[in-house]
Amino acid sequence: MYYGEKRIEQPLRWAMAGGGRGSQIGYIHRSAALRDFNFELVAGAFDIDPERGRDFGSMLHVDPDRCYPDYKTMFDEESRRPDGIQAVSVATPNGTHFEITKAALNAGLHVVCEKPLCFTTEEARELEALAAEKNRVVGVTYGYAGHQMIEEARRLIQEGVLGEIRIVNMQFSHGFHNAAVENTTASTKWRVDPKVAGPSYVLGDLGTHPLYLSEVMLPNLKVKRLMCSRQSFVKSRAPLEDNSMTVMEYDNGAVGYVWSCCVNCGSMHGQKIRVIGEKASLEWWDEHPNQLTLEVQGEPVRILERGMGYLEPSALSDDRIGAGHPEGLFEAWSNLYSRFACAMDAADRGEAVEFWYPDIHAGAEGVRWVEDCVRSADNGAVWVDCQ
Ligand code: NAD
Repeated sequence: MYYGEKRIEQPLRWAMAGGGRGSQIGYIHRSAALRDFNFELVAGAFDIDPERGRDFGSMLHVDPDRCYPDYKTMFDEESRRPDGIQAVSVATPNGTHFEITKAALNAGLHVVCEKPLCFTTEEARELEALAAEKNRVVGVTYGYAGHQMIEEARRLIQEGVLGEIRIVNMQFSHGFHNAAVENTTASTKWRVDPKVAGPSYVLGDLGTHPLYLSEVMLPNLKVKRLMCSRQSFVKSRAPLEDNSMTVMEYDNGAVGYVWSCCVNCGSMHGQKIRVIGEKASLEWWDEHPNQLTLEVQGEPVRILERGMGYLEPSALSDDRIGAGHPEGLFEAWSNLYSRFACAMDAADRGEAVEFWYPDIHAGAEGVRWVEDCVRSADNGAVWVDCQ
């Protein structure tokens, strides 16, 4: 159980790039970062429109003098202050993540970057090398990984409850973009523009989420090769896809499937992961995040509930309210932001990190996976060896 006591000595002085008024994801970043007093919001370049950004920042109790017109000015000005920022979250559209993260690392800042980390493996390698050189943490907000039942699934698999893993079936498949909503919605418009969104739409925007869940649950499985088919059912989205299926082969002989889709009419979110072993299966669905289904062959189905004493201590340590009371995405993100803060604090003190969190390598893995999927799909859905 977590009672909100401090996990690091002093809150980190923190800023945001993007995440302004009207953005989809800005509020959950602030809510998650500020909830446990690990971060203190002291500056921001919140908006592509400087005036709107300044006005918005002041409404967040940020000193108007520290609401900057752009991220470059922010990094520059803050570096001159004795109380300048120590960390920044990047919640801008995809096409800016690489340049802002790179500039932040060069300014000596820790970073929380939205996915995708960048567009190409070459860029990802550059950021990995820079973060290592500067000894800075880069966290990537694969937010669903912060749900406690993901940790329980990892533990059950580690203990061999499922036996040897055979199949990993994943999907993130909602119906909200079944028509060209981008014509009237700004935050969808950029998602179907390759210049801003990158080489994919749903593969990167949706598929990388359950993919990362599989990496947390199955840290030892590596994708050997994959095959991907992608379509644009709303024709104007081409070359970016609104539906895709990826088939993967892992190095232990297991297979994986990822269905990424935004035209699955009627589906609210449809993010699920089902891990099938030789003895049992488990399944998690983000619309019911407090439950994990465990099905042992030949036995009645078990629904494991968040916060219950039969879970592993590691799956209980982030429990904030007790079993029965639902927790949700805001708590999951808070758990991740706590991990980011502890990793940043450890790096500042020169200590190693003993716990998992979606780090720069996880971000790079997502970029690599999308690149491989696109390479496969655009060559006629052929098998490609993974990089
Ligand atoms: P959005 O279009 O709703 O909002 C983007 C915000 O960034 C706006 O406030 C805009 O003014 C600001 N902005 C744009 N360019 C900027 C710049 N150069 N400098 C400063 N501010 C700038 O987008 P969104 O849906 O909030 O998505 C933002 C990012 O978050 C994307 O990369 C997206 O993939 C990611 N995202 C992640 C999740 C998740 O679950 N982790 C969910 C949704 C979105």
